[in-house]
Amino acid sequence: MDEELKQIYLTLGISPAVYRYGEEVLRALRPRFDAIDQTAEYNQAKVLAAMRSNRVSAAHFAATTGYGYNDEGRDNLERVYAGVFHTEAALVRPQITCGTHALAVALSANLLPGDELLSPVGAPYDTLEEVIGIRESKCSLREYGVTYAQADLLPGGGFDYEAIRSKINERTRLVTIQRSKGYATRPTFSVKQIGELIAFCRSVKPDVKVMVDNCYGEFVETTEPSDCGADMVVGSLIKNPGGGLAPIGGYICGTRECVDRCAYRLSAPGLGQEVGASLGLMPALYQGFFLAPTVTAGALKGAIFAANLYEKLGFACVPNASEERHDIIQAVTLGSREAMEAFCLGIQAAAPVDSYVTPVPWAMPGYDSEVIMAAGAFIQGSSIELSADGPIRPPYAVYFQGGLTWQHAKLGILMSLQKLTEVGLVRLPQTEE
Ligand SMILES: *Cc1c(COP(=O)(O)O)cnc(C)c1O
Repeated sequence: MDEELKQIYLTLGISPAVYRYGEEVLRALRPRFDAIDQTAEYNQAKVLAAMRSNRVSAAHFAATTGYGYNDEGRDNLERVYAGVFHTEAALVRPQITCGTHALAVALSANLLPGDELLSPVGAPYDTLEEVIGIRESKCSLREYGVTYAQADLLPGGGFDYEAIRSKINERTRLVTIQRSKGYATRPTFSVKQIGELIAFCRSVKPDVKVMVDNCYGEFVETTEPSDCGADMVVGSLIKNPGGGLAPIGGYICGTRECVDRCAYRLSAPGLGQEVGASLGLMPALYQGFFLAPTVTAGALKGAIFAANLYEKLGFACVPNASEERHDIIQAVTLGSREAMEAFCLGIQAAAPVDSYVTPVPWAMPGYDSEVIMAAGAFIQGSSIELSADGPIRPPYAVYFQGGLTWQHAKLGILMSLQKLTEVGLVRLPQTEE
């Protein structure tokens, strides 16, 4: 088998030396991979239980058009999501165009003029700066009279409880907690840490509402932030919970009160969840959610493999090779523009779509340096599919995530290493034959 694999990898352009090096790294990872499979097994059961108790049937896959009144498939999918996230209600819609939109809906629906929003975990994800009005923007919360306060993390990445206490005031209505580090350098928080933070905020102000930006965190652990006190968990369907099949969409799971308001904000006051045609997307949304636990597990294995492979070659990785994982993002500091280009070329070459394309850095709107991106995805912008990107500036780090299957993630990582060795930017240590 080993010989056969080596041969097929050779036909794909992976040298025997790169293959051998990868196998050596992998050997030590087997116990961790077993633990990831167990988490997936648990989460698969959780999803199945919700699908069974809500009696999902072929009738739920029917398409609706127009207003979408009485769309039983859509309504039942929302019950399934609520079942998995253990919330009273859920809003799961193709009309939510992306993660940023879902977060913007959740925030603007649950904050009124005069209210204050607090982030106790430092700066939020880039795109939220305009939603909140940290960067001036039309229709921001700030324009509507909602102010924003922020407590930064301690230098070591911990919560600054004193600062948080001092920022909570009589106007603080909503606390927003971002689970994943996104493109920041701080650690990603575990569900347990988020639970502790929520409990602290409530000890200062019992009626404060809490929203968690759950992007990239779904199904990485056996519990979700909604299991430990969050009023809303919010995310994108072209990340983990869409399982790679959802072509568009976002979700907000939470209390009936919060989700109702989100539905009125998304459609219109008085209409709420009763409108919104599903347009034939229900099969993909159900099936994607069904696959999401194992797809997330594959992506997680890829991230851990990349960290172990590259750390041993001397590249700094965040999270590092041995850390516990709470999201699927892996940063690898490559140290030069050329290395970023070679890495991304490898990820691209391993893709099922657009494998022949060479990613080149370009000046993307909204960024102050050039950005390089590798993605050969079935669904545009899907970052649960294998993808890599990063700004071309020191420390020259690529952010790497996704992989619909572990086998594909593995090939992508080996291919990135292959390209780095081909241009002489990495020399593999001698391994025993
Ligand atoms: C991806 C992401 C978002 C929003 O993403 P979209 O690109 O708008 O779908 C928000 N927060 C975090 C932490 C994310 O990873």
